[in-house]
Amino acid sequence: MEFETLAQFRKDVRKFNINLGRNLFFPRIDSERCKAICDDEKCTWQIYCAKRSFSASYQGNTSVNEHTCERKMHCKTADGKWVVDELEKKL
Ligand SMILES: [Zn+2]
Repeated sequence: MEFETLAQFRKDVRKFNINLGRNLFFPRIDSERCKAICDDEKCTWQIYCAKRSFSASYQGNTSVNEHTCERKMHCKTADGKWVVDELEKKL
């Protein structure tokens, strides 16, 4: 999964998780790397994103792709399904 910027990474990952009904947060690492982890401390889901060596983009990697926590929020956005589909294509 590729992102143009870390801001884009955060935006896409947040959208994706809103549509999954999950809360997450982004512990800051540094200006070239970013990580998102699930808000539920027992859940192992996380995604890591780092600048690529030979291109201007950022590479995202999920070490644990499935949430082990319960769904917490209810999705009310009409385009929710679309966003999930789009991101799943990239994953
Ligand atoms: Zn989770």
